[in-house]
Formats: sequence, C-alpha cells, structure tokens
Amino acid sequence: MKGTLLDNIVAAMENNELQAYYQPQYNPRKGVIGGAEALVRWVKPDGTIVPPAEFIPELEEKGQVSIVDWFITEEACKTIKELGDKAIKISVNFGREHAKDEHFVEKLDKMVEAYHIDKSLLGVEITESDVVAEKEDVIAWVQRVEAAGYTVSIDDFGSGMSSLSFVKDVPAKVLKIDKSFLEDNCQSEKGRITLESVFYMAHRLRLTTVVEGVETKEQLDFINTCDCDYIQGYLFSKPVPHDEFFNMCTNEAPVDVDFFDPFASQTAFGQVRALIDAVYSKFHMVVFTNLTRDSYHVMKRETFMNTLLPETGSYTEGYKYARSMCKEEDVDTLDKAFTRENLLEAYERGEKSVVRIVGQRTEEGEYHKVAFEDYFMNHPDSNDVFMVSFIHYVDFSDDTYVGTVRFGY
Ligand code: C2E
Ligand code: CA
Ligand code: CA
Repeated sequence: MKGTLLDNIVAAMENNELQAYYQPQYNPRKGVIGGAEALVRWVKPDGTIVPPAEFIPELEEKGQVSIVDWFITEEACKTIKELGDKAIKISVNFGREHAKDEHFVEKLDKMVEAYHIDKSLLGVEITESDVVAEKEDVIAWVQRVEAAGYTVSIDDFGSGMSSLSFVKDVPAKVLKIDKSFLEDNCQSEKGRITLESVFYMAHRLRLTTVVEGVETKEQLDFINTCDCDYIQGYLFSKPVPHDEFFNMCTNEAPVDVDFFDPFASQTAFGQVRALIDAVYSKFHMVVFTNLTRDSYHVMKRETFMNTLLPETGSYTEGYKYARSMCKEEDVDTLDKAFTRENLLEAYERGEKSVVRIVGQRTEEGEYHKVAFEDYFMNHPDSNDVFMVSFIHYVDFSDDTYVGTVRFGY
C-alpha cells in the first residue's frame, strides 16, 4: 500500500469505503433496542472488511484518529436524523486527542445543529487509556461535554485500562463494563462475585450500566440478576451496516429475551427465602420501623416472648411499653439508645446500627437478657429513615450481657 496510513484513510473516506456500523444495545428485560454504538469499518471495493483494530491503534498512536471519529460522528448524526421519532441514542468512540481539544463541545454542537437533532441522542465514549491529558483536564472536559447536554460513557471498564479512581472522579453517566468480566461464561463464583460488585458500585454511583460482549444465554441469565440497564453483544446483534440497523430500529419486533426473573425462579428465590429463614430463625422478634413517621410493625414474634406489644402502632408508644418492661437499672441504657430522638440522632451521626442488651420482663414477670440490634436504612426517594430491629434472648451466654452504652459493632 502506498502513502501513509492517514493518506489511505483519507482516500478511503473519499471513496466511501469508510463506513459506520452500528451495534444495538438492548434492554435485557423488554428485548427492545435502547441505544447503539457506532463502530468504524473499512469496506474495501472487493467487499473485504478491515476491522478497526488494524488501523485505529496506529492512528491513535500518531494523534491522527480524530478525522475518523468526526467522520463517524457525522454518520451517526445523519442516522439519528433519518430515524426521526424512531431515533435512539448512538454513542461514538473518541480517542486520545479529543480530551485536549478545547473546541470539542463547539464541534459537537455544530454537528448536531447542522442535522437538527436532539443532543441527548448523541453519546460520547472515552476509555481511560485513551486519555492523554492530565486528570483534572479530563474531569473538566467531561464536565463540559455533560453540561452541554451529551452523555459521556466510560468505556472498557475493568479491562485493566480503566481504574476505580477514574470512575470515582470522572463525572460520566454511563459505565460500559468490559467483556473480560464474562470470560468464564459467568460460571465461576469468583467471577460472579466480581461482576456483582461492579454492578453494586455502578448502582450506588447512579451510573447507567451497559455490559459489552454478551454472547451466551448463561451470561445473560447471570447479568439479569445484576439489574443491568443495557446489553451489547453478539447474543442479540453484531455490529451491522446502516441499512440493516435502520430496519432494526424501525421494523423490528422485540427480540425474545426469555427474561430470567430472579424472584420468580426457583434457585434465586430459594436463596432469598433461605436468607430470610436464616434471619427469622436466629431472632425471636423482628420489627420494622419508620423513624421519620414514628410508626412500626412487628414482622415476626415468638409466642414464648409473651409481650403485649401491639402488632403495629406508633414507635413512641411501643417504646413506652418496652421501657415499662425494662429492668430498673437498665432503663437509662435503654433511653440513651432507643428513644426515637436518640435513634434519629445516631443515624444523623452516621451510625449504621445501635446495639444494646438489657434486662426485660415478660408479662408473667420473668426477666430475660434481651439483645436489641437496630439497623438503619434511608429511603432514597422519600428520605425517610427506616430501621429494622432484631431482638433475641441471650440468657444462655452471660458474657454477652453488657448493659452499658455501646454503638455499632
Ligand atoms: P470498543 O469501543 O470496546 O467496541 C466494542 C467492540 O467489541 C467492537 O469491536 C465490537 O464489535 C465488539 N463486540 C461487540 N459485541 C461483542 C461480543 O459479543 N463478543 C465479542 N467478542 N466482541 C464483541 P470492533 O468494532 O472491532 O472495534 C474495536 C475497537 O476499535 C473498539 O472497541 C474501539 O476501541 C475502536 N473503535 C471502533 N470504531 C472506532 C471509532 O470510530 N473511533 C475510535 N476512536 N475508535 C474506534
Ligand atoms: Ca466503545
Ligand atoms: Ca468497549
């Protein structure tokens, strides 16, 4: 081949040999397309396709990849425009040099304006390894792109090129989980725990999740237990040329996802049941309380406990009853820990739990050492503070009787 790679790429562009392929991303529960990634292909006149791995890395190396990226961006904009009200978000890969481009947002804006498309339909993918700028510059760059109305995805998360601190600091909204997590077909316990933890982190950080490289039903079934937002992989579709993609977006019925609902299936439901049974068999009483609204209900109670605490009511009233049954010398301990005010205060302080053991009398006048373990939770929507109390008799082991103030474990 004569000329430099860049010369050949420019020539290929002029001959319409450079094309955008699109790989749809599916909602794994509904089987409908929710987004897509644009991927460059070099289609030679004889029909052979040169994959990006054969020219993108070299262009990146030389700082010449942006010509391809802007070409693909423009193709994506055209496709979005053509799809009209059937349009879905299309994400484009942006290599190394863009994070240093001060006019990046301006160029994106110009392009979406030229095609009169909604900015929210154009996504920007970056990989940590691609970024050559200083971290602070990258953070500022992503902030500007997001602030301008585009969604930024962190690509290849977990590939070894993308670190936890990158995810922590870069204000992107989407995490694309690398296919290397799926290598063992989601069959090993270690692999599954690792993937679960990635999703746990992503959900806690309120990131949208996309898993790449899903090829098998086994992988899909496991990923579905992790509450993933989008699946991108050969199982649903390979990257396809423009016309095929257009048809998929406009005509295609949802694919049959055969959704594996963890709560309906025997195994996972069985696991949840086993966990609940274990909790319920360990504790003699379990109480659920909304501290903010001062209400509780008893979820489980052994009859041998012989209390007259109503099944449900106001926490403050229920507490008065518990206090009236408390051993004289332990009342102070009980009050410091379990009045509604003190519990709310402990929660505000950042305590995860409040645990005490005090002497409690049954209705028959018999005293027992009773452990109260209260765990706090915050409802993300209402902001109410919830508490689950695990209560059990601990007479059998004298050394657990502390009777003094103790916070947490
Ligand atoms: P990427 O951004 O991680 O893109 C996903 C790659 O995974 C694509 O390879 C896609 O075809 C492949 N893939 C998708 N589903 C599966 C699956 O189920 N199994 C397997 N084994 N692979 C799957 P592709 O298209 O060959 O692209 C390779 C890389 O080249 C991309 O990785 C991206 O880093 C780069 N690239 C592609 N197009 C562009 C572009 O326009 N600009 C830039 N800067 N880079 C691009
Ligand atoms: Ca990508
Ligand atoms: Ca990727």
